[in-house]
Amino acid sequence: MTEIHLNKVQQIILESSGKARRDSIARRRPKDLSRPSASWTTDAKIGDATGRATSIVLATVGCSYARGESGGCTMCSYLLDGTEKRPTDEQIVQQFNSVLSSLSGEGPLSIKLYTSGSFLDEDEVSLDARNDILNKIAQDNRIAEVVIESRPEYVTDETMAVIRNILGDRRIEIGIGLESSNDRIRSICINKGFTLAEFKAALKIASKQDIGVRAYVLLKPPFLSESSALQDTLKTIQDCTALGVSTVSLNPVNVQRNTLVESLWEKGEYRPAWLWTLVEVLRKGRESLDKGVNLVCDPVAGSKPRGAHNCRSCDKKIVQAIRRFSLSQDSFCFEGLECECTSQWKHVLEHEEISLLVHSDRRLR
Ligand code: SF4
Ligand SMILES: [Zn+2]
Repeated sequence: MTEIHLNKVQQIILESSGKARRDSIARRRPKDLSRPSASWTTDAKIGDATGRATSIVLATVGCSYARGESGGCTMCSYLLDGTEKRPTDEQIVQQFNSVLSSLSGEGPLSIKLYTSGSFLDEDEVSLDARNDILNKIAQDNRIAEVVIESRPEYVTDETMAVIRNILGDRRIEIGIGLESSNDRIRSICINKGFTLAEFKAALKIASKQDIGVRAYVLLKPPFLSESSALQDTLKTIQDCTALGVSTVSLNPVNVQRNTLVESLWEKGEYRPAWLWTLVEVLRKGRESLDKGVNLVCDPVAGSKPRGAHNCRSCDKKIVQAIRRFSLSQDSFCFEGLECECTSQWKHVLEHEEISLLVHSDRRLR
């Protein structure tokens, strides 16, 4: 494709992302602003130890990037989860406290602070509310790790210094959606709106305060064949080693409501990744990463038509193996999973690109 073609494709993607955003905003329902959008606890790898991780999605007005001109990323419906009205600082802190006060049991605990955008964006969570929440965490000795999700533009020297100062010597990571190390794929297929250079700059700033970066890596953005998606994700994980990230969190695209991905999926022009592809990426990706860097994956909607899936009969045991792998980091978890659909997956890897047809499984839905 020439530059002119690429620019045209990007324009079409921008327009359709903008439309999806306007639809999302119109569909938002009134919410209790003192309750978080969601929270859940799972077993998790915390550095070298195994403990529990509690994820808290604070209800805010949502991602500034998605609310702006760009329309947001092609696979993300988080804006739909945002609130119609802006919560007050007190309500945001109340959302956090309601989860923290319900956590029982021993540590080590990991707390993951999410919003439907960036926790460090002051338009979503004010500085006062942010610092109140971090101070609450600092008072709980069970919490050994804090993961904060943010776009790179909010990672500044000053913010990192304040966070380090409040949280003391806890393990801290900033989770950033790098998605792909390929600027073209991140920009055109995902409409991410930042460059690899900007990601690197954020990583450098965070590292000055001994704060790690958890890179979210996407598997199978739209407009890539199964085989190109596999290659792109593997290359991204390899690049993560050179970049010096502290954790790689692998996320196969799941089809979220009111997104460009959903409109392609509904027309049979997009199929979420095969679980076999995910296993292959985890197995090979693990080999390419340093031992101290965990490679984790908890596929959202895994085994469902809207998430990474295979033939249905083998899906559940593969998703379980992926969860075991995330805790143990041992590729042995993937032994003995063979299924009759492996040959179909290999056929897709080989022929999808040549036929220029998306090998979807619409009939299964
Ligand atoms: S993926 Fe992140 S940056 Fe992109 S639209 Fe969603 S919340 Fe915003
Ligand atoms: Zn199967």
